Amino acid sequence: MKSYLALAALLTLGLPAFAAPPPPERVDLVVRWARVLTVDAEFRVLDDGAVAVRGTKIVAVAPSAEIAKRFRAKRTVDAKGAILMPGLVNGHNHAAMSLLRSGADDRALMDWLTGFIFPAEGKNVSPEFVRVGTLLSCLEMIRSGTTTFADMYYFEEEVAKAVDEAGMRGVLGETVIGFPVPDAATPDKALEYARSFIAKWKGNPRIVPAIAPHAPYTVDPDTFRKIVALSNETGAPILTHVAETKDEEKQIAEKYGKRPTEYLDSLGVLGPRTVAAHCVFLNEADIATFVRSGAGCVHNPESNMKLASGAAPMREMLAANMKLGLGTDGPASNNDLDMFGTMDFAGKLAKLGSGDPRTLPARTTIELATRRGAEVLGLADRIGSLEAGKEADMILVATDTPKGTPMWDPASQVVSVFDGDDVRAVWVAGRLLYDSGRFRTLDERAIRRRAEALRTKIQASLVPKEISK
Ligand SMILES: [Zn+2]
Repeated sequence: MKSYLALAALLTLGLPAFAAPPPPERVDLVVRWARVLTVDAEFRVLDDGAVAVRGTKIVAVAPSAEIAKRFRAKRTVDAKGAILMPGLVNGHNHAAMSLLRSGADDRALMDWLTGFIFPAEGKNVSPEFVRVGTLLSCLEMIRSGTTTFADMYYFEEEVAKAVDEAGMRGVLGETVIGFPVPDAATPDKALEYARSFIAKWKGNPRIVPAIAPHAPYTVDPDTFRKIVALSNETGAPILTHVAETKDEEKQIAEKYGKRPTEYLDSLGVLGPRTVAAHCVFLNEADIATFVRSGAGCVHNPESNMKLASGAAPMREMLAANMKLGLGTDGPASNNDLDMFGTMDFAGKLAKLGSGDPRTLPARTTIELATRRGAEVLGLADRIGSLEAGKEADMILVATDTPKGTPMWDPASQVVSVFDGDDVRAVWVAGRLLYDSGRFRTLDERAIRRRAEALRTKIQASLVPKEISK
């Protein structure tokens, strides 16, 4: 009787324990019943998790039951048997070079560049070449779970249009180089192109225009200073190649009496907006310079292996807490754009290179390919992890497969077992770009047809010694 009275009193008082639950909030999309790898600072993993999305942004990441109570979605995706994780960030690419991949492999770097790549580019790179090559790469990247990439090429305006059409995200740099190229007869012309390209695309929600001095050995000091000034004036990132080969180290020492990192630092090139690809040959002092300047490095293990450049000092760079990401490099020097392969090779090369199998564990590798890679590109506040407030760039990876069974450690599986073909769905800014074999924004067959037609044209433009192996 006593307890009944107590209950009646509570009911009369209308205490919150008995209040009706708040009505569910409306959202556009809920992906539920997934194993969610948030890749947040704690690397939180939810075994039965869900993500709620409104507009372009994530509004909640929580257990599926909690999301079901809190939200009512226009569209619900049941993702049982899949991993839901942030879209992958490819920190270094030359997307349009997909049209040249496998054209002349197994050559020494200088022979490959001067004997095939430079003549093929000189005779063929046009707005059409860049547009089609980039669209082809966008198909491949979306298909294999990459949602953001950094690019360095010519006619970067065409790259931006392709990325926009694909619905992807990009940090896109117009190349500046010290010899005549198809879109600029001089470095000053390239700077002019970069200036108007930056003005046109700045503020776009998915595209960050950038400026891309090719490398310390192909850009003169005066041009580097102008590039730094343009970056300071516009806030545009600087994308470049640094310390890729022993030969570069030798050339810069002979010309300027400095190491590549020292040389760039003396010109003011290294700063928080700078993204340096490769960094294979960094010593302790170089790493300290990177950390002090806030410049980021993108490690490209497959390209470094293919061109026999060397193994970047990953153990030392990680220990120094350098800003680090992962990239494929261009499709002609990898030769694919699958970031799952890049994660796998990064881990294995770091272990082999350091002689220590504890170097670059799986969770760290995934961080480099997502959250930390986003930080290198200046996008850490917007993408790179599944957290409320971030853009809904996310991918579903199928695990209901022989190689996905049994599941001891999802992070380890992602790095060393799964590959791009296991990706089942891809969203960028909440928009579905790919779903079980179907592209939602691009016409795959039409793009492949145009790419094949261009290959025939490129081949016809080359003399036999340029394509013979
Ligand atoms: Zn490159």
